[in-house]
Amino acid sequence: MSLNPQRTIAELQELRELTADANGAQRLAWSPVWLQAREWFAAKLRELPVEHHLDAAGNRWVTLAGESEKALLLGSHLDSVPNGGWLDGCLGVMSALEVLRRFATQYNGRPPVTIRLVDWADEEGARFGRSLLGSSACAGTESIEADRGRTDRDGIRLEDALRNCGVEIDRFPEARQERKNAAAYLELHIEQGPVLESLGLPLGTVLGTKGVERHAITFHGQEAHSGSTPMNARRDALAAAAKLALNIRDIARKHSDAVCTMGSLKTFPGIVTAVVGRCEATLDQRDLDAQVLAGMYAEAQESSRRFAAEEGCTVEWSKIWNIEPVPFHPTLIGFCEDAVRETAGQVKLLPSGPLHDAAEVSRAGIPTVMLFVQSLRGISHNKIEDTREEHLKLAVAALDRLAGKTADWIQRS
Ligand SMILES: [Zn+2]
Repeated sequence: MSLNPQRTIAELQELRELTADANGAQRLAWSPVWLQAREWFAAKLRELPVEHHLDAAGNRWVTLAGESEKALLLGSHLDSVPNGGWLDGCLGVMSALEVLRRFATQYNGRPPVTIRLVDWADEEGARFGRSLLGSSACAGTESIEADRGRTDRDGIRLEDALRNCGVEIDRFPEARQERKNAAAYLELHIEQGPVLESLGLPLGTVLGTKGVERHAITFHGQEAHSGSTPMNARRDALAAAAKLALNIRDIARKHSDAVCTMGSLKTFPGIVTAVVGRCEATLDQRDLDAQVLAGMYAEAQESSRRFAAEEGCTVEWSKIWNIEPVPFHPTLIGFCEDAVRETAGQVKLLPSGPLHDAAEVSRAGIPTVMLFVQSLRGISHNKIEDTREEHLKLAVAALDRLAGKTADWIQRS
């Protein structure tokens, strides 16, 4: 039997039936529903000539041994955010399974190179606020001491939640062993944004994941009575923050794919009868080009100081988190372009704003590329997340072509 993308759609629907309620998918990592989803997935492996196990970080590895030990990795994640969609993550896992089945059938259970499927544990970080947990353990970029004491809403520690699922956080570094013989990593994912839909294209080749600069910015002014303080005597911290909130849009617009977001703003004392004495804002800046990102960060800092001075305020910055841009592998980007062109005609190259497990794999030095399929309305992390069936079928077919080209490349090199 050859590739059957219709089966992937049927299996995704099956998974939705099993793990979604009226509010959407509930496959929160380390929860009973997630474990149920993983058991359902393991049952799909029974009739295949594969070995599978969980690594020290709870990632599931499925291995179809080939003539060569050099391995082509395909993967994504079965976990979801609470009230999530039916495609985020699981599309990548189930399409990888379909491609693995195709290799198993075509080569009578022994393809020229080894094919490995990985279902990463806790990509979303929805419960403990730590995204890419399993893939970072495999990549060797894990932060065990910072993570073990993280708690969920009910005060349960990450370390204990993992232990309940048979995973010891102190053994995370052992997951790095899975990188042995890894020659390439491919991941199909929904775009989760509106770009492909706006261009009328089903598929896109991903150039890499954008770097992120995430900072807290506090403007200090002077609390004062709203009735008695003349306009020209005010030191209004909100006015300075507001100027910055508008200015970051101009900063981002100088670059074609850059984004800047002020997602949170708090005023103190925050009452109707007082000029704002302190304003706490957050800034999230992203771009695929490290120089562009650094430039936008510097520009926002400079603007904030200028606006603070104009309003008689001061400003301080503190870093919340940052990550470098992760450009994908040029050869694999080329294969992905070819696969998309052969499957769907036109090619669009685009960066990914969201982070993905693929970024961790790439940081570990394994040649990596991602394939995006159009998201309807650009909506994700929501029960209305959707993609047209015909686009899903094209996506599975394109991933299969990409996998074929990559396996040939691995065999040659
Ligand atoms: Zn995802």
